[in-house]
Amino acid sequence: MSRREYTIRLVCAHEGCRESTYTTASTRREEAETRATYRKDPYRCYRHSRPDEVLSVDNPVRHTIVVSEGKPYGNFWDRQGLVSGPGFKAICNDFPPGTKLIVTARIELPSEESL
Ligand SMILES: [Zn+2]
Repeated sequence: MSRREYTIRLVCAHEGCRESTYTTASTRREEAETRATYRKDPYRCYRHSRPDEVLSVDNPVRHTIVVSEGKPYGNFWDRQGLVSGPGFKAICNDFPPGTKLIVTARIELPSEESL
């Protein structure tokens, strides 16, 4: 017997925003629970849930600092053993607890001459 999957489309609750995402449930009960959860706490896209993290012409630079924590079962950057982004991967167990991972993202707009 094949497993059924129920697709749930979530639309950002911010007025006028049309961003959407999908999640799935494997049973009708799970689908109903998921829909009830999002009725209480509606989905919001990145732009409307964490607007300060979205790079833009007016917000072209972001610095984030995460400090590693030593746990009995390994070291973690804010609950993750591995943090990665374009061009890097940082495996927390490669460093002692208290190590800072400093990530900078910067938007550089094309110059007037190149347009
Ligand atoms: Zn939105």
